[in-house]
Parts: sequence; C-alpha cells; structure tokens
Amino acid sequence: MPNTIIEDNIDVLIVGAGLGGTGAAFEARYWGQDKKIIIAEKANIDRSGAVAQGLYAINCYMGTRFGENNPEDHVRYARMDLMGMVREDLLFDMARHVDSTVHQFEEWGLPLMRDPKSGTYLREGRWQIMIHGESYKPIVAEAAKKSADEVFNRICVTHLLMDDAKENRVAGAVGFSVRTGEYHVFKSKTVIVGAGGASNIFKPRSVGEGAGRVWYAPWSSGSAYGLMIDAGAKMTQMENRIVLARFKDGYGPVGAYFLHLKTYTQNCNGEEYESKWFPGLTEMVGKEYLDTEGQHLSHKPIPTCLRNHAFISEVNAGRGPIHMVTMEAFQDPHLEEIGWHNFLGMTVGQAVLWAATDVNPKYENPELTTSEPYVMGSHATGCGAWCSGPEDLSPEEYFWGYNRMTTIEGLFGAGDAVGGTPHAFSSGSFTEGRLAAKAACQYIDDGKAEGIRISEDQVEGRKTEIFKPIEHYKLYRNEITAGSVNPNYISPRNGLDRLQKLMDEYAGGVTVNYMTNDKLLQIGLKKLAVLEEDLDKVAAENIHELLRAWELKHRHRTSESVVQHTLFRKETRWPGYYYRGDAMKLNDKDWHVLTVSRRDPKTGEYTMEKAPLYHLVDEDE
Ligand code: AMP
Repeated sequence: MPNTIIEDNIDVLIVGAGLGGTGAAFEARYWGQDKKIIIAEKANIDRSGAVAQGLYAINCYMGTRFGENNPEDHVRYARMDLMGMVREDLLFDMARHVDSTVHQFEEWGLPLMRDPKSGTYLREGRWQIMIHGESYKPIVAEAAKKSADEVFNRICVTHLLMDDAKENRVAGAVGFSVRTGEYHVFKSKTVIVGAGGASNIFKPRSVGEGAGRVWYAPWSSGSAYGLMIDAGAKMTQMENRIVLARFKDGYGPVGAYFLHLKTYTQNCNGEEYESKWFPGLTEMVGKEYLDTEGQHLSHKPIPTCLRNHAFISEVNAGRGPIHMVTMEAFQDPHLEEIGWHNFLGMTVGQAVLWAATDVNPKYENPELTTSEPYVMGSHATGCGAWCSGPEDLSPEEYFWGYNRMTTIEGLFGAGDAVGGTPHAFSSGSFTEGRLAAKAACQYIDDGKAEGIRISEDQVEGRKTEIFKPIEHYKLYRNEITAGSVNPNYISPRNGLDRLQKLMDEYAGGVTVNYMTNDKLLQIGLKKLAVLEEDLDKVAAENIHELLRAWELKHRHRTSESVVQHTLFRKETRWPGYYYRGDAMKLNDKDWHVLTVSRRDPKTGEYTMEKAPLYHLVDEDE
C-alpha cells in the first residue's frame, strides 16, 4: 500500500481550484488572515477547470457603475432563460457582487477590451464583456496561490471525510496523487467544493479519432456532484442538463458570433427557420415565453433551450444542416479578425479544425450542431447542491445559517457545485467562491467546527477503497482471456463506454433526439445499479487508470442523480434540453417548483421532494 500523507489542522480546504475554488482561496485569506487555507487540485491550478483553455468573454458583468444593469435585471434574465427554475436569492447575491470580481481581474492584469468611444468595457451582449483571455486562468490562479498556505496540485480528491463526533458534519477530504500514487488525507474544519460539473456522461457526438473532443472540459468528471452526493448532501435541479448549439465538431462557442458579430442561423435552403417553430412551442410551454402570435417577445431573449428546440426540430424535418451565416460579417476585416481571435483565445481546436478541413467562414457558412447533454451549474443550466442563501435575502426554506453551505454542516459549494444558479459563468463562479469562503470563515469563528474527530477506521477504510482498483488489477491480470478481456474486471474505459451508452439511450442523449420517458428512465436506473456492481471490480493498471476509475465513479453517481431527478419531474420543462415523451408539456400547476433529492449514504436510497420556488424579484414593468 502507498504512503499516507496527512495534512492536519486545516481551517478551509478548497477542493478543486477552477474559478470557484480560486475565488474561495482569495476571499478566505481576506476574512481569515490567521487561518490555514489549503487547496487540493486534480490538475495544476495554473491551467485547471473549465477556464483552463482561456475565454474570449466574461459572460456575467452587470456594469452597474456605468448605469448598464442592476442585479435585479440579471435575475429576471436568468429566470426567463431557465423557464423560471432558479434560486433567486443566490442569483441576486452573486449578481450584486460580481462586478467587483471583474474589476479585480482587471487590476490583476487581465486585458479587458474597452469601447474606444465611451471608455467603458466593450460589450458583446447585454451581460457579456470581451476580453483577451487566453491567459485568464493563470492570472486568476496567481491570486489564489498567493492566498493559500499551500496548493497541492495533482491530487484527485475521491471522498469527503465526515466528522465521527457529530453526525452530518464535514471534517475534510481524501484522495491520491496522480503523480506519486501517495494517499493524501486533509483534515479540515470546513470544505469548499469547487470541483467541476460533468462532461462525458452522455455519449458524445465525437467518437473514434475525435473522442475526447467535447464542449465542456473533458476533465470535468462530475466530482462536484459525486463527492457531495456520496456524503449525503441534498441536490437540486439535477435533471436540468444542458445541450448547446455549437460549431460542428470543434464545439466552438457561438456567443461572440451571435452577439458581437451579429451572425444568424439558417437551414440548408438558406431560410430563417426559428420563428416557424414558435407557435408549436407556445402550445408546449405557454405564452409567457413567446408572444400571443407565437413569436418571440422582441424585448426579451428567447430562452436557450427553446432556441435549441427550433434547431432540433428543423433538422428532424429534413432541412439540416443548420448554418451560421458568417459570410456577411466576415467581409468586414475587423469582424473577421474577431471571429478568428475568438477561437484562438478560447477554443483553438475550432480554428484548427476549420483550417484543416478547408472551411473559411468568409466564403462558406460553417455548420452548427446541437451537443450531447452536460451536467453543470454555471452556464445556461443550474444543477448542483441545495445550498443556503444569504441571511438578508433568503426565505426560511432557503436559509440555514451560512451562505452557500450545503445541507452538510461545514460543507460549502462554489461554481458548478451550487444548484439553482445558472448564468454565473466564470466571473460569477469566482464570486460564489468568495461568498462561500466568507461564510466558511464565519462558521469557524462561530465555533461550529469545534471538536471534529476523524477515526482511524474512516481514514484506513477509505485508503483500502481508493486503491482497490490497483489491487484488483494485480490479483486478476493473469486471467486476461484475449486482448483486454478479463472475466474478473472491467477497465475504466469499458465502464465509461457503458455509462455513456446507457445515459444516451435511456436518459435523453443525442442518438434518441433528447427524448426519454418514465419507462426508459426506470430501465436506465436498473442498468446504472448493475453497472455500479461492476464498478466495484474496476481494475487500474497504473495511477493514471486509477484516476480514470475514480472519475468514472463520480460520473456514475452524477448520472444516477440525473436519472432520479428526470424521473421525478413529470413534465417537459426545457424543450431543447430534453423531452419527457410521456409528459410533453410544461406543467406549471404541478411543477412550478425546485426538485430536491438526497441519497442516503448508507442505503443508497433516494428521497425526492419538491421545494418552493420563490420569485423574489418582480417582473419588469
Ligand atoms: P456561448 O458562447 O454560446 O457559450 O454563450 C456566451 C454567452 O452568450 C452566454 O451568456 C449565452 O447565454 C449568450 N448567447 C449565446 N448565444 C446567444 C443568442 N443567440 N442570443 C442571446 N444570447 C446568446
């Protein structure tokens, strides 16, 4: 068995240092000058998380100091985009602080573009400002590195540690080094989970030579959810997976094109197609989101899922592919440059793919496609933990003492980890990390973590469990019958393929046109349970495979939660994200609620409940 390395007496342990985790480290130092702040990160903090590749825009900036937007406006926007299903207290709280985060980023050296005429930040859209962001992550990471006592890079955190003195209180986390293979134990008064959402749980469109090419970071293994669900934290809105319209095969984002370059889409015949699907959509979702003629409300953006619905429907009607009309905008040399820069600063693969396949957007309108679903909480979707809101805003059901604390004492979330807070993006995730860390420091100062104790049994038990795939391999490797086939184990790759196929076919992936129903989901749950039995026999040839094995286990747990939630919400709330074939309409009478689940860590049983959906911000007059 490998060495055990123990880091004791930690005050704030940050698990995962993407934008949420870095924000947490920065703010924890401000409120906890004397506190021991430790980061455990699976990759290297300089290039980790969803922003690792860079970004070309900061998608959440109010611009309140320039008189542009108020936090209330942002709540209205996110609420509309998510068909009503958001935690308005958490959203408002993020929105009222997010501008200060962005101003700090600029101070730290992030180049924000400015409008030469007004001197204000250059807007891409109402909420988005443009940046030269290839080095966004290393710039932000520097602040976190200076704040933390120590950053443990290359640590895959597999489990949270629970307090053996008091039930339902966190006491740290454990994992292993993906470089040395050593076992790491972090004993801590509080834990802030800033790990990622999940790509690669639904079968991706890219297979074979393109496998691994996905829109959300391929290393986002749902650990935010896997860690918290396994510990018994309540989750919310896990059914709210997101599908994105993206440039085909390279998954290049469309925001800068639609909003700044003012490009638009058309079908294979060069026709506008969106509006013809709106009357039918009104039937499905009601008139709140589209006007009485079934056309979209000109003063409000069309919800992201409904735009997807029009896209998917048009392709199904035989008029694909859908093209992005770039040929007009690209005649302007400035816009042409922006179009290419956009990808060079954030999705290099898309620029390379166009170059490699002779697609010049100046002379050809590139193809778009809809992606496989992703489970996350910071883009136009709000999966994550059920967290307490801030004391000055949250109604009773949303408040239990500390901002962004999950239903486990001392366990906080940020970024993808927090549910009900879509449209936070990078800046909002960092802001959430700040809010969580401030509350975590208060929790410690209030004496809430006094007396935590971790038994030797817990620490040793986890160690055996974590390294079991390596032991399993050693024990059975001689029984390979052919190639990699072994009657006693499966590899992490085999397991991932199986997971992706079943999520795709039963939970509404691309090959079934995002369609599912009660029967399919029930079969999906059964297959997930059988897969879990086999995951007990996953074998890892080396430390790298051990990493893959644990990523797979986190993805599996995330998937199970997604299926449970999708089964629970008996309606089609977000056409274009997924469809419940047995309940094809939005049903506000029964489902104008947030879904909340808890998996009992001892029995594996799920309890589902409806939580009230409070609208704290008035409709705009
Ligand atoms: P993306 O580049 O697609 O990740 O989106 C970046 C930002 O632009 C997000 O805030 C999106 O919600 C927004 N966005 C993307 N496409 C559109 C569109 N067609 N209309 C309005 N907002 C959009």
